[in-house]
Amino acid sequence: MGSHDLDFLFIGAGILGSAGAYALSKKLGERGVKAAVGVIDIDMEGEHSSTLKNAGGVRATWRNRANIEFCKYSIDFYESIAEIIQFRELGYFWMHGARSWREIIENHPLYEEYGLPVELYPAEEVPSILPLVDNLEGIEGLSVSRKAGLIDHYSLREFYRGEARKNGVRFFDRCYAARVSVERERAKEVTAYDIAGFNKDRGAMEERVEEILVDDAVDHDLPGIVFRCGTLINTAGAWAPRISALYGFKDEGIMPRRRQMVVLNCPGVDLSPYGMLIDTSDIYFHKEGANIVAGYSNTDEPYGYNFEFSFGGLSEESPFVKHIWQPLWKRMSAFERVKFIRGWAGMYAETPDRSGYLGRVPGLENVYECEAHTGRGLMISYGAASALADLLVDGKFREELRHAEDLSRERTSGPLFEGLHL
Ligand SMILES: Cc1cc2nc3c(=O)[nH]c(=O)nc-3n(C[C@H](O)[C@H](O)[C@H](O)COP(=O)(O)OP(=O)(O)OC[C@H]3O[C@@H](n4cnc5c(N)ncnc54)[C@H](O)[C@@H]3O)c2cc1C
Repeated sequence: MGSHDLDFLFIGAGILGSAGAYALSKKLGERGVKAAVGVIDIDMEGEHSSTLKNAGGVRATWRNRANIEFCKYSIDFYESIAEIIQFRELGYFWMHGARSWREIIENHPLYEEYGLPVELYPAEEVPSILPLVDNLEGIEGLSVSRKAGLIDHYSLREFYRGEARKNGVRFFDRCYAARVSVERERAKEVTAYDIAGFNKDRGAMEERVEEILVDDAVDHDLPGIVFRCGTLINTAGAWAPRISALYGFKDEGIMPRRRQMVVLNCPGVDLSPYGMLIDTSDIYFHKEGANIVAGYSNTDEPYGYNFEFSFGGLSEESPFVKHIWQPLWKRMSAFERVKFIRGWAGMYAETPDRSGYLGRVPGLENVYECEAHTGRGLMISYGAASALADLLVDGKFREELRHAEDLSRERTSGPLFEGLHL
């Protein structure tokens, strides 16, 4: 059984594990601290990670200060590396129904306080801003958030990893964390199964990885690797509760839920002036190359790890037709001729108040978590990673991220409910 000694070990190398390792290694370097930082993942490529399944949207229009600060801090950073991550800062155009219109009006003073440019327009002005819209039914108003847009999630993750590697971070692929030994309220070591030798055929390996991530069904005869760690950080996304269980924390705050996205083609519909668009029906959509990517979060979706894509087909019963095409066509008649191209399913890690967790795990001295930022893991990643690094190295947060403490498990300032959540 191989082994490694690490000062900091992240479990999960999605956008948050990769960003966390980058921010931590950068901060340690700035402080002149030499420390061994490692990140393990069963699936470093991220075929099943939420990081490669998302819509690429970034905005800071939340209700709670912690989420606003994290996203604003991230967007400032994304602006500085815009070309590398293909940041198209073309805004968020949100057509609101009554409930979300009330919410954005209530939140607006906070956006002003944070210097976020968010314009609010009455429904009758929608066609002058979005000429494609020819049916205003159900629209109470339109918000246009300018410090917002689209980024390429793959490029951002690779940026974090590349910079982290330059700072000496080690990434261990095909390692599935299966055991954490805890002594006197401290995590001592993580035993991971090394599935690298399982099958050389890429397709078969992907199937096996999916089975493990869906069912937690791992072959206990596989070789193990021991990672002794000074500090353990759970960044396993929708699988974070499984890792929590390994160190004895009963995590009832995070539930995995399937979310689906489709790629469609629609001749004559030009979305190139806009970043993300959102309809009152909660469909979000944007231009991606020559096509359009659209998503819809059906609220009746049961919890569970389900990667099956079920939004295909053109029959009347098809969820694609019912939840995506019909509402889009109803709002914009130019969507009449649509060609369905493909789609995929990924995981949301949902919490009761729709805000994530960042902080030390209650009852454990050296275990931290940064997870379940639900539909905002990408847009929050740099701010969350910087706050995590502050906590790990300095034990306190920098001024711009001072509300980070609200995201602790204890929710010391109360629940951080987010209504403008998709
Ligand atoms: C359809 C959809 C649309 C979305 N749209 C947006 C959007 O527009 N903007 C936005 O900001 N966010 C969006 N999100 C949310 C965003 O994708 C997530 O919040 C973010 O990717 C979470 O990143 P993560 O690093 O926490 O998790 P992940 O990317 O899922 O990474 C977790 C990693 O942990 C690994 N892992 C799990 N268990 C183990 C184990 N036992 N051992 C080793 N490794 C393990 C997994 O292999 C995985 O790579 C969307 C999500 C979905 C599904």
